[in-house]
Amino acid sequence: NRRFVLASRPEGAPAADNFRLEQTEIPQPADGEVLLRSVYLSLDPYMRGRMSDAPSYAEPVAVDDVMCGATVCRVVESRNEHFGKGDWVLAYTGWQDYAVSDGSGLMNLGPSPQNPSYALGVLGMPGFTAYMGLLDIGEPKEGETLVVAAATGPVGATVGQIARIRGCRAVGVAGGAEKCRYAVEELGFDACIDHYADDFAEQLAAACPDGIDIYFENVGGKVFDGVLPLLNTFARIPLCGLVSQYNATSLPKGPDRLGLLMGQALIKRLKIQGFIIFDYEKRFGEFFPQMSDWVADGQIKYREEIVDGLENAPEAFIGMLEGKNFGKLVIRVGDD
Ligand code: NDP
Repeated sequence: NRRFVLASRPEGAPAADNFRLEQTEIPQPADGEVLLRSVYLSLDPYMRGRMSDAPSYAEPVAVDDVMCGATVCRVVESRNEHFGKGDWVLAYTGWQDYAVSDGSGLMNLGPSPQNPSYALGVLGMPGFTAYMGLLDIGEPKEGETLVVAAATGPVGATVGQIARIRGCRAVGVAGGAEKCRYAVEELGFDACIDHYADDFAEQLAAACPDGIDIYFENVGGKVFDGVLPLLNTFARIPLCGLVSQYNATSLPKGPDRLGLLMGQALIKRLKIQGFIIFDYEKRFGEFFPQMSDWVADGQIKYREEIVDGLENAPEAFIGMLEGKNFGKLVIRVGDD
């Protein structure tokens, strides 16, 4: 059994030596338990937070513990009546080949799900985040303008496409011409602006001639600076993530802009609401059938970047925080 543990806590951007690959015995399931073998491991931005011991909404991974993460696994051996050998399950077994579980927290995907890895993306946590953040907090209305960054990732791509279904103008922000082209041509965004462009703020303003009614916040930093002056009165900001800040070790240089933000929030009656998707757990049943239909009939498109081999997880994860992934980042840990 190969597994990656957290070797040390990063300062700033994580590096390869913050992770350590270990070999352990394959665990044996006791009565009531199942033995799981990982096929797919999800890599997500929140893992950067778990590597740090700064106070947050969830406990950090302890040094020398297995890195956390959602997985799609096969049941190799079952001593639990709810699971059969060969079943696919959505689990939370982390960066390793094998794990045992008593079944709690597992979602049985059955013996032959169509796209098992989608449970880590558009039909799972990131898709659910997009759906609830946009519909519950963003409250999109026909004809409004929505802006979302990380527009080709699993959250942003889904946000933009739902906004289009709801009759909004969807403007994406992404890193580089290829991602921007994909957002417009494949995902159906009305426009997509490259945040690396020197005139990013001007291009964003030009793409939002009627201002911004919903800014789905995924990244913060420079993108938010460009968005703030364009926000309309009564704009909504579902505050989902701030990935541009996750490796920061200090506040950015420059004048303190908190007064500007608060002033704008007051004058424009902005609604800024942070959310963590766990809070919506009870509404998964609303999301799942709807999103399954949208994916099945092609209204929502979904792109994965699948990297082969558990040994490549640290590099892939570090790259994701710099935008090297193009689509939902998934590690193929083992064979089907
Ligand atoms: P992505 O696959 O979209 O990966 C992150 C992307 O962020 C990168 O690909 C990159 O895209 C972009 N990015 C990184 N650094 C910067 C930067 N400095 N400026 C602008 N963009 C940057 O991840 P997800 O779709 O899984 O997650 C998107 C966001 O949603 C994250 O902030 C995440 O933490 C948050 N999230 C929050 C949840 C919640 O419960 N609140 C649940 C799930 C996700 P590009 O190359 O296009 O810039």
